[in-house]
Amino acid sequence: MSENTYDVAIVGGGPTGLSAATELKRMGVARVVILERSAEAGGIPRHCGHPPFGLREFARILTGPAYAHRLVNTANEAGVTILTKHTVVGTGPGGILTVASPDGILTLQATIILIATGAREATRAQLLVPGLRPSGVMNTAALQAFIYQEHRVPFRRPIIVGSELVSLSAILTCRSHGIRPVAMVESQPLPQARRSFFAMPYLLSVPLMTGTEILAIEGSPRVTSVHVRRQGGAETVLDCDGVILSGRFVAEAALAEASGLALDRGTGGPAIDQHGRSSDPHIFAAGNVVHPIETAGHCWAEGRRVARAIAAELKAPARAERSEGRGRNVIAGKGLKYVVPQRLTAKGVGAAPALNLRADGAARGRLVLSDASGTPLREMRIDAAPQQPIRFSLAGLDLAADSNDLKLRLEPKA
Ligand SMILES: Cc1cc2nc3c(=O)[nH]c(=O)nc-3n(C[C@H](O)[C@H](O)[C@H](O)COP(=O)(O)OP(=O)(O)OC[C@H]3O[C@@H](n4cnc5c(N)ncnc54)[C@H](O)[C@@H]3O)c2cc1C
Repeated sequence: MSENTYDVAIVGGGPTGLSAATELKRMGVARVVILERSAEAGGIPRHCGHPPFGLREFARILTGPAYAHRLVNTANEAGVTILTKHTVVGTGPGGILTVASPDGILTLQATIILIATGAREATRAQLLVPGLRPSGVMNTAALQAFIYQEHRVPFRRPIIVGSELVSLSAILTCRSHGIRPVAMVESQPLPQARRSFFAMPYLLSVPLMTGTEILAIEGSPRVTSVHVRRQGGAETVLDCDGVILSGRFVAEAALAEASGLALDRGTGGPAIDQHGRSSDPHIFAAGNVVHPIETAGHCWAEGRRVARAIAAELKAPARAERSEGRGRNVIAGKGLKYVVPQRLTAKGVGAAPALNLRADGAARGRLVLSDASGTPLREMRIDAAPQQPIRFSLAGLDLAADSNDLKLRLEPKA
């Protein structure tokens, strides 16, 4: 076997890739490599200098860097090969990977590839934020890299755009380094994370301005103010010296797309079955690239689960899926942004503990799973904030008897 041949090549050394690799080694898979484009493995938590990480994995509360360090150590101890500064730039038929490395372009061969490339916050261009282009406009992840890795404070009085959980992470990061956010601005009428979390900005005297649109970022060469329109139409200027664009996560799916995988419109990432199989029999996908976004603990657990499916596939190549039949597509219906997995293979439906979904906005009412004829199979009451993760349990449902599509829809409360 050549030194560039692996049983499993994992693209991305974040919590998902590291936990999957460790589990594969624990299950006796001989040659497991992680290809990570950064100089260090660990993924996003490397930049998050604050807790809470690690409760589910290590039964303690860690900061992001301590957590990332521990995941990397555990993978190393299990015998995983981790190649940093290795960016996978393409995959080819039959498990070929093209990799840009410090030694030039390499070609690797793997029986199975796992794509675990994560998600990132939407850029200013993707968010269509108008105005000038001064310095001092960045995402939460970039802010955290500035502060925790480079020990630099990029501004003193920024506004935070967004009201997701990660927006609270931006507040914590700011306050830990003497930065006093001027306001948290949300274009939607309601905060995007659970309302109960919003005691935090209130307690830290950061006003939350919902229903507020940015009309222009102003200043040159640095940000000096942001012009906004409040709910009701009144316009105002917020003096500030920076802008943090938080949340609105986008799947890091460039490689999946370049590999020709079927993508899901709702998540933007590869469509998968409950075992993490993509539309290519050699490629699995897991973590935030398939659901932007979940916590690190969720991704870690998913990495382990998908590793077990990959180990089964390695033992009985391609047979695992064929023996499970065509399976059933799960369609996100009215009111839902996405449902993951998008396909349930007939056998082993129980392997998907639950459908993982997000609503288009605040969701209050009933979620109804029905078959192709519209007959309801299960329903669940729901009252969730717009970006709140929602789980719909499949436990006990016999879905193997049929192969028609399933549809999950939201019936809002009148
Ligand atoms: C600002 C911020 C704060 C957060 N705070 C918390 C928190 O407090 N608690 C919590 O539980 N979760 C938090 N999260 C979420 C958590 O970080 C993620 O859920 C978790 O990191 C997802 O793991 P992942 O492995 O799927 O992806 P990632 O951690 O994003 O890892 C993906 C890896 O893939 C690599 N990669 C991408 N493309 C390629 C390629 N082509 N070739 C090689 N490598 C590639 C990337 O460099 C990266 O290292 C936070 C997220 C953000 C953005």
